Amino acid sequence: MATTRRIARRINEVFNLNANHIYYFYLGNWYHHLRDFPGILVDSNGYVCFNTINDYETSPYLQHGVRLHVRGGISSMPGYIQFTEEQLYILNQIVVNDVIAQEQINDQAERRPRNIDSIVRNSVLVREIKELRDNTCQICGSRLQIGPNSFYSEVHHIRPLGNPHNGPDITSNMLCVCPNCHKTLDYGFVEIDFESIQNIAGHIIDAQYVEYHNGNVD
Ligand SMILES: [Zn+2]
Repeated sequence: MATTRRIARRINEVFNLNANHIYYFYLGNWYHHLRDFPGILVDSNGYVCFNTINDYETSPYLQHGVRLHVRGGISSMPGYIQFTEEQLYILNQIVVNDVIAQEQINDQAERRPRNIDSIVRNSVLVREIKELRDNTCQICGSRLQIGPNSFYSEVHHIRPLGNPHNGPDITSNMLCVCPNCHKTLDYGFVEIDFESIQNIAGHIIDAQYVEYHNGNVD
């Protein structure tokens, strides 16, 4: 089960939102389709509620594709309800607890041996990409500051390495991302918008890997 689904359920319970169906995505721009109503979409600061399927299907702010897309994010919609300071504090705890739980599951799953040569080569490319991109996330544009002059980012392989995807370990298959977007991409929750990832000198993304990712979102 995707971590965002568990977070959505906790939010519904803890804040008594009484949704029959609820989705959470911190950026507020991509969701699965709501099927039961009242239905609620949540981002990292608030939520919007659709009382009926008609409200949902006729909203001019929503694009109903394979996935629901909200171009300006749900915070740009009339009727968006901002969480209170107290709710934001609780939401933060829900998200952090869920991330910790997921990390423990991943730690168990990822203990497999890797070839030393490939690890060394990979770490050079990873450092290069983070430097070229100035640790700025290619998905959400954020730059995570971890010290007075230091920033943190991660590198995501668009077409994953290893079975069954067998993506290549080359820079045109890499994205510089923040940890939140990295997890979201790993879970195949969002499509990558090829137009917005921005090719720069020294780091050109190959569209075939983006298409592969977008064909595998679940
Ligand atoms: Zn990001």
